[in-house]
Amino acid sequence: MIQMQALTRNFGTLHALQGVDLEVPAGSVFALVGPNGAGKTTALKLCVNLLRATTGRVTVMGVDSRRLGPGELAHIGYMAESRQLPEWMPTGYFLSYCREFYPNWSDDDAAELIRRFDLPLDRPLKSLSRGMRMKAALAATLSYRPQLLLLDEPFSGLDVLVREQLIESLLERTPEATILLASHDLAEIESFATHIAYLDEGRIQFAEEMSTLNDRFREIEVLLDSPSDPPPSPPPGWLNLQQSGVTLRFTHACYDPDSTEAEIRRHYPALREITASPLPLRAIVYALAKSSGRTSA
Ligand code: ATP
Repeated sequence: MIQMQALTRNFGTLHALQGVDLEVPAGSVFALVGPNGAGKTTALKLCVNLLRATTGRVTVMGVDSRRLGPGELAHIGYMAESRQLPEWMPTGYFLSYCREFYPNWSDDDAAELIRRFDLPLDRPLKSLSRGMRMKAALAATLSYRPQLLLLDEPFSGLDVLVREQLIESLLERTPEATILLASHDLAEIESFATHIAYLDEGRIQFAEEMSTLNDRFREIEVLLDSPSDPPPSPPPGWLNLQQSGVTLRFTHACYDPDSTEAEIRRHYPALREITASPLPLRAIVYALAKSSGRTSA
């Protein structure tokens, strides 16, 4: 659905994206995560031609993003982080206004979303709370049944109930629709993303299916027979190694149930016990950020 090829975007001397290659498969819920300033918003804007690439290119629904026209844009929903809406419009008027732009607009879907989100149609958008404005924007976007949804920080500042309503409404659209979202909200992402890419300083550190990511990360605790020195150069994939007395802890980024125990025993022949525990996404991302010298993600 989206292919980014050697995508680079500079702002003066600042390299916001540095040679990004990324493929977003049709039908996926693809989460783009990473620390502040990693380049997530820039990547989304390049997909919808709100920014031009310095070098490289993005293909969206088979079309170079620089050539997207009304025909393609009628099938793409983009919700920016800033979410600028025409403040003076009453919510109902806003929805009818949007309706005119999209041949695929469904009145039934709009009515259902208005009901589900409990949108006050007669109140101007400027008088709505942040969560209600978000719901109004999402109702306007989902009602034209886009094949591709690009959402920048869709959960920021929303309460738990509103988040759940949003996720429910988004999931109802998949797999017919593809969703690419930039978010810091790892707990929400974990509950519904099928794919994840981690962007740091404009470079993709990893991009994969959530299930393979969950399979390859484990928190490892090793109980040794007696205190011993950590290996001078730990194997690749052993992140944030800590040793205290007879206890050794690290995050394994390439865990394999068939070979990891043997690998640990090669370094620590005298050990009593190995425990490998699955990690929540938040802990995986934190371990990666910490191992690369970053402390926030
Ligand atoms: P956040 O999580 O904080 O929203 P992000 O991952 O979305 O960050 P971007 O907004 O894409 O990051 O910004 C990437 C880098 O590019 C940052 O260093 C930012 O300051 C810079 N940048 C973005 N837009 C511009 C601009 N219009 N002019 C100059 N620099 C910019």
